[in-house]
Amino acid sequence: MASLGLYVHVPFCARKCDYCDFASWAGRQADMPRYAEAVCREIARRGAECGHPAADTVFFGGGTPSLLPPELYRSMAKALRRSFDIAPDAEWTVECNPGTLTPEFAAALADSGCNRLSMGMQAAQPELLQSLGRIHDMAGVRQAAALAREAGIRNLNLDLMLGLPGQTMAHMEETLRQALALEPDHLSCYALILEEGTPLFDRVERGRAALPGEDADREMYGLCRNTLTRAGFHQYEISNFARPGRECRHNANCWRREDYLGFGCAAHSLWKNERRANPATPDGYLRGGAPETERIGPEEAMFEAMMLGLRLTAGVSEADFARRYGQGLWDTYGSRLQPALEDGRLLRREGRVFLTERGMDVMNSVLLLILPD
Ligand code: SF4
Repeated sequence: MASLGLYVHVPFCARKCDYCDFASWAGRQADMPRYAEAVCREIARRGAECGHPAADTVFFGGGTPSLLPPELYRSMAKALRRSFDIAPDAEWTVECNPGTLTPEFAAALADSGCNRLSMGMQAAQPELLQSLGRIHDMAGVRQAAALAREAGIRNLNLDLMLGLPGQTMAHMEETLRQALALEPDHLSCYALILEEGTPLFDRVERGRAALPGEDADREMYGLCRNTLTRAGFHQYEISNFARPGRECRHNANCWRREDYLGFGCAAHSLWKNERRANPATPDGYLRGGAPETERIGPEEAMFEAMMLGLRLTAGVSEADFARRYGQGLWDTYGSRLQPALEDGRLLRREGRVFLTERGMDVMNSVLLLILPD
């Protein structure tokens, strides 16, 4: 059965981290009430336009949703329930920054039906967190995890980062140890991407900070993979590891190219092969700027399905592909994918096409084979 995910973007942060180029702003808390009202209006409008469809995942991301006053979070959660038929067993995730979660917000989460908390732990070492401009330490992570659990939210994801300036293998080992001690159900391990225009980019450019380098990144990634596998997690996507049954359904549905509707500034939607991007800034959004929309043709839709689906260790189902796009995956791409199959980057087995461990490291080289002309 087709899935629909709902996403709400909360663009407010207590301070801007030094590596971050996401759609997030510090010092704009005064705009929160107006923003929440605008999001509620957008939810009502889009819900009606789309015929109040059923949805099986909800994700509040940011930014820092846990920075919202609880009543504003509640108003947006209620707006979603009014306009969409949210399944009783829906996965409902809210991102939270340690150091911002309060007992009142945790209670609002539990009331709203939130059953999954995703927290940016990043690293266990205070010096690494400080060098990233993070506002929290490990004590804050432990406290937020405890608050969520006291409120009844058991499903916990922790985001970790690797390839940070000054980060060593010993740091990574200790970070994994402390993360696992919190008994999460899910871990995301992301390599730092140095984004131009960020303070960290400038520091690295000027020689005031040094990155560990590609080989060290690869070693840290291997350490994450091995440690988490030994701890009972399985890797289901390039950067994501879960206990059985705890894969993030919202993100997995996006990687399977299921529909999703996004609300708030910088939010994107994919609905019946129309892509929609809301105004990128809070000001543009609050002024009522129109979203940019684009129809996606069949060739692009099939390529997207491959580009997203190959991120998953389970790869792309040939039966699903044929059902959705009216033509076989292997009929469409077989001759072009053959070299990757022959040199061991790709496997075709039991009705699925997926990347090998080596293929995951060089995924772009496989996608280049099937890039539309
Ligand atoms: S908390 Fe997250 S979204 Fe906010 S500035 Fe830091 S990295 Fe960016």
